[in-house]
Amino acid sequence: MDSMKIEALKELLGTPKKIIIVVHKNPDGDAIGSGLGLKHFLTQYGHTVEMIVPNEYPKFLKWLPGTKQVLNFEWETSKSKYLIKEAEVIFTLDFNHLSRTGNMESVLENVDSDFVMIDHHQSPSDYASFMYSDVNMSSTCEMVYHFIDKLNGLDKITPEIAACLYTGIMTDTGSFKFASTSKTTHIVVADLIDKGAQNHEIHQNVFDNNSPSRLHLLGVALKNLVILEEYNTAFTYLTQSELDQYGYSKGDTEGFVNYGLTLEKIVFAVIFIENTEEGIIKISFRSVGDFSVNEFARDNFNGGGHNNAAGGRSEKGMQETIDTFVNLLPHYKDLLLSK
Ligand code: 5GP
Ligand code: MN
Repeated sequence: MDSMKIEALKELLGTPKKIIIVVHKNPDGDAIGSGLGLKHFLTQYGHTVEMIVPNEYPKFLKWLPGTKQVLNFEWETSKSKYLIKEAEVIFTLDFNHLSRTGNMESVLENVDSDFVMIDHHQSPSDYASFMYSDVNMSSTCEMVYHFIDKLNGLDKITPEIAACLYTGIMTDTGSFKFASTSKTTHIVVADLIDKGAQNHEIHQNVFDNNSPSRLHLLGVALKNLVILEEYNTAFTYLTQSELDQYGYSKGDTEGFVNYGLTLEKIVFAVIFIENTEEGIIKISFRSVGDFSVNEFARDNFNGGGHNNAAGGRSEKGMQETIDTFVNLLPHYKDLLLSK
């Protein structure tokens, strides 16, 4: 966002406004952390701020400061719709297209409030009057920190805001190990610790709160792992009956896809997860190096994301989806073996 836009936004936010913050469907640590961090920040300026999530989010994020005030569009639809209609400013965080908000899309399309986008996904669409999009950023939480800086508000970062932003940077960078983690990311994180983020506690809250169902499902996913050495690729899957057998709950499978990448030589890892309620197979793609899973997901599975982390979906059954996937690999052989 250029400096003129920042000045215009400062002016807009110069008097108390009714503000809504929206994040993507199936919110992750970066979505919830950036939404709540921004909510706490804006509230200090006298704005009325509500955060609305399209649907439920994982239990391992429910300790975040302010989590109890988050509205769930699926459960509180009329109230959410009313608040969106009344809003003067709508911040959309951690997504690049309104369709990523699921059922909220049609509501958001029909309001004329000012939209502010803060996001690090590729190919952003242009619905926002204020657009802060940077695909080189580690996370939307890091961007919210820079955004606060642009508004000269760094001294307004409380320990609660610091905890929210730290959490999203930590989860979106795989605990500071992905290629998107820059020197600046570390400087931001250091400042957040300085401002009161209890880093040790945050890691524990997020990663050391496993349920037995999650560990059992991890066992199943690892057992189901298929390694296709000739394509430097590994994939796994979880069927609905496997999920049911071990008492799956939301968030249990978060991060499972990354295990494939810990194998020597593997540059492309995938997990297929059946969701019979939605009638889809949800797919997560991860890569290391130059192979763009964003393009792979966009071109073949109605999805997208980042170069090294993307998602998509299939409306075919599990076996057919996996067959389709495996049959695509020969077309990508050169890219997969180029490392
Ligand atoms: P995950 O595999 O963890 O669900 O998602 C990985 C990344 O891809 C995240 O940044 C997420 O926002 C994005 N992503 C996941 N599913 C989709 C999708 O269906 N469409 C698009 N455009 N992005 C997705
Ligand atoms: Mn993100």
